[in-house]
Amino acid sequence: MKDLSKRIALYPGTFDPITNGHLDIAERAIQIFDHLIIAVAVNPAKQTLFSEQERIKLIEKAVEGLGSFEVTSFSGLTASFAELKGVRAIIRGLRMISDFEYEFQMALMNRKLKPDADTVFLMPSEKYTYLSSSTIKDIARHQGQIDCFVPKAVAEALREKFGGKK
Ligand code: ADP
Repeated sequence: MKDLSKRIALYPGTFDPITNGHLDIAERAIQIFDHLIIAVAVNPAKQTLFSEQERIKLIEKAVEGLGSFEVTSFSGLTASFAELKGVRAIIRGLRMISDFEYEFQMALMNRKLKPDADTVFLMPSEKYTYLSSSTIKDIARHQGQIDCFVPKAVAEALREKFGGKK
């Protein structure tokens, strides 16, 4: 039986890798919901730097001790996974207006596919609005300083992939 007294939300994303911006959104979401499922979207058509298991591990380390989080992965439609998990809310982050069009379209499509789930958009702290996983990977690839943008374990994992100094 599903526990309907708990407000559970799903935060899906590629998380390749998780950044402090993603973490900021997850921490805001857990203030509103009782439990947050952070789910790594596995899309074979999308090439990622980190494997599914690596991405899960890095998220687990980042949220350890921060609240009631579950970290998992899924493939296929977000709406189907939301149905499977019985969630009523899908969390997405909005950094700036450029995110809006894509997110708006996705949110409406997901609601069409799963009418009883709504997308809840959260805005990160201003200092993370310019942060993206791809920018971080570019900086790390060129041995730039990434420690202030990502959790510690992610910075170490990126240095392992690309080399680079602390
Ligand atoms: P996807 O491929 O599903 O967009 P991402 O890992 O890039 O996966 O992002 C997952 C979600 O987190 C998206 O809603 C995205 O807008 C949001 N997000 C990414 N970076 C940040 C950030 N720096 N601040 C707030 N939200 C972010």
